[in-house]
Amino acid sequence: MRRMIADRPVLRMSSELGRVMAAARAREQAGERVLHLERGEPDFDTPSHIVEALARAARAGETHYPDARGTVDLRLALRDKLARENRIACDPDDIVITNGGTHALFLTFQALLGAADEVLVLSPHWMAIPKLVGFAHGASMRAVPAYLDLQSGSLDGPGFAARLRAALQPQTRGIYLNSPNNPSGAVLTREQLSVMAEVAVERDLWVVSDEAYEHLLFDDARHVSIASLAGMAERTVSVFTLSKSYAMTGWRIGWVAAPAELMVGIAKVHQYGIMCAPTVAQFAALEALRIGEPFVVEMHAEYDRRRQLLTSRLNQMGLFCFEPRGAFYCFPNIARTGMDDEDFAQALLHEERVAVVPGTAFGPSGADHVRVCYATSYEELVEALDRIERFVERHPGPPAELRPA
Ligand code: PLP
Repeated sequence: MRRMIADRPVLRMSSELGRVMAAARAREQAGERVLHLERGEPDFDTPSHIVEALARAARAGETHYPDARGTVDLRLALRDKLARENRIACDPDDIVITNGGTHALFLTFQALLGAADEVLVLSPHWMAIPKLVGFAHGASMRAVPAYLDLQSGSLDGPGFAARLRAALQPQTRGIYLNSPNNPSGAVLTREQLSVMAEVAVERDLWVVSDEAYEHLLFDDARHVSIASLAGMAERTVSVFTLSKSYAMTGWRIGWVAAPAELMVGIAKVHQYGIMCAPTVAQFAALEALRIGEPFVVEMHAEYDRRRQLLTSRLNQMGLFCFEPRGAFYCFPNIARTGMDDEDFAQALLHEERVAVVPGTAFGPSGADHVRVCYATSYEELVEALDRIERFVERHPGPPAELRPA
């Protein structure tokens, strides 16, 4: 038969999360109750005043094409937000409103990466990144382990700089960074970001900074946008989304801020890809920015409560994990069970009906880990932890003295 699908490797890449979700769904269809710790999505509904803003806009006839880059009011509000919160100075025309952060990253890689260009990706990294890079024809990515080593203190500033420099190749054009990080919960400090900035300036690289979880910070963690550091404004693409901060995953509103020279390309891919983000959702986004803060604070307090429960119980079970300082994930090491991350995730779903994502889905440095998302109710989390504890007791792994160091 005639070939249907184009001969492009990216179209054949599988989705680890998709596989876990399909396996969980199959169990649910068979009547079993699965606890979902695999999905990376707030369990809260969007606050009602944001929903009302969309309805108001629709009733008022805001149903037409906006400026393809986004409504002027929303871009003005974002310019002010970026200046105030992120110390990024830009013009409304340096901002494009996108269909969420995923789309912002898609546009960015399309505009930045030519055939044979390479991007270094600090890892473990969000699962979508290999596909998003893969859609840029002929481009490639290389994972550079960073977050777990920085979190553990085994990689200091000079070591980090040396690791980045050693990874660079002639075809390397830039670095993708994500802090707070999905899946590890690591938050890079100003000093660690300064190290990256130093290497980027020295080697004339651009940086794509994915700040999807900028508001989900715990303890003394502070969010620093790398574009605000010396020499970085002209070489950084900053990507944001309302999905996580305001529980608006289904609304598909994100934005990208980039130097004007690059924005020409980003805006072009945007315009001919989707034309514009939905007008009414942009009105809702404006409302979220205007009066959404108390909701962000309320959700944050609840995430923090869950985070503390999760990390203390996993550590008690011997599934060691760092206390995440950002996002809503925890990334325990499961090596003590003697299973690899794939087997662990499969067996946990099979035996205890708890869905988690194997760490290698986030790049090779995720081996021996699984991602656990705590954007689920406290009660469900307690139940899931009880099930995981039972599972770990049944799978004690080799005696301590025989375990790999
Ligand atoms: N960046 C990271 C690191 C993410 O984890 C996600 C979603 O899971 C996104 C970006 C994109 O989210 P959205 O497309 O919903 O804005």
